[in-house]
Amino acid sequence: MTAPAATADGLLTIGEFFAGVREGRLVVQRCERCGALAMPPKAICPECEGTRWGRVTLGGDGEVASYTVIRVAPARLTVEAPYVIAVVRMAEGVSLLGRLLGVPHDQLAVGLPVRAVPLAADGDPPVIGFRRR
Ligand SMILES: [Zn+2]
Repeated sequence: MTAPAATADGLLTIGEFFAGVREGRLVVQRCERCGALAMPPKAICPECEGTRWGRVTLGGDGEVASYTVIRVAPARLTVEAPYVIAVVRMAEGVSLLGRLLGVPHDQLAVGLPVRAVPLAADGDPPVIGFRRR
């Protein structure tokens, strides 16, 4: 016996997320029942099992939760290596992956306060950049 397929109202598509990034906005899902944010998008709220979603635009501030230095890059990014990819815990509580810019590698640290900046918005998918604040 299988459970009925969950139907979510207002589910954010990853395409919609990246369209926001191209316009300089970080838009994520917010549960209309409990207010929890979900990124990546989820059909069912992990906090309350709600299935109705609205949107919230993040303010852009966060802190580095994890990072890695890419020294062997994909072919199209070879000229940019070494560069830093970071998981950033946003002030609102969700985490986003992006490029960390302008931070000397000997100053990389978990907890570094950063702010999202437009970067490579024409890429496919577009890339979120973060700079120290
Ligand atoms: Zn919820």
